Amino acid sequence: MKKSIFLCAISNISSGSCAEDCGFCTQSAHHRADIAHYKYKSIEQIVFEAKNAAKNGAIGFCLVTSGLGLDDKKLAYVCEAARAIKAELQDIHLIACNGIASVDQLKTLKGAGIDAYNHNLETSQAFYERICTTHSWEARYQTCLNAKEAGLALCSGGIFGLGESEEDRQAFIQSVQSLNPFTMPINFFIHNAALPLQTAHLSEEEALTILRQIRQALPQTRLMIAGGRETTFSPECDIFEAGADAIVIGDYLTTKGELPERDRAMIERLGYEIARTCHA
Ligand code: SF4
Repeated sequence: MKKSIFLCAISNISSGSCAEDCGFCTQSAHHRADIAHYKYKSIEQIVFEAKNAAKNGAIGFCLVTSGLGLDDKKLAYVCEAARAIKAELQDIHLIACNGIASVDQLKTLKGAGIDAYNHNLETSQAFYERICTTHSWEARYQTCLNAKEAGLALCSGGIFGLGESEEDRQAFIQSVQSLNPFTMPINFFIHNAALPLQTAHLSEEEALTILRQIRQALPQTRLMIAGGRETTFSPECDIFEAGADAIVIGDYLTTKGELPERDRAMIERLGYEIARTCHA
């Protein structure tokens, strides 16, 4: 039987102007990167993007907001977007990614139709203070626990290529393992001249080694290659053989992605099929 590859699309529904200082993120106001800034994308536009993602084969759709976490207004907005999408696309697997959140806030999201919560640990506990000084790794870990307690499927991973050591990578993988997430997004740092982190690019071989190590550590978790896929792996590279079973299609939060039809063709050319259902 051919391995099925899960496709997920993301929508940046509230972009930029974030007060946090994550060193890898162009949405941080500290770095003044040249990106789009908007408070709230219209609900109509979000539903349009969700339908488009579904047409492109995505069965996951993620509502992402910039900022540290949720306040009442943002929570109500994400819930409104979730309800509007689910009214039109009952089968879509809806993910919310809105930063630090309490169990009650996460239960509210679940009540509005959100199926999963994405909150990344990003890197190891020890290395985290080198990439962010405005909030703690521990607060991130707690939000992941909160998502599980609220009954949401947990989507938690992070980003490689920030200058972390091999020891940091192993510690980070162990931390994700301790959360046993349903999905682990794996990002590779996308360089931008405005960002304080100016590290060497990871080679394809190094990235594949990381992917194989994660697959070994988390045999049951869906491994989703997200940001940095196109700049790290060639289209001929079989990331699925190395352990991935999901990719983000379309554009990322602030950078362009591959055309979805090219990604679908890539999956078929490598001998896999596109997943039709999500088993979260
Ligand atoms: S990763 Fe999230 S919290 Fe950090 S700067 Fe970017 S938008 Fe803000």
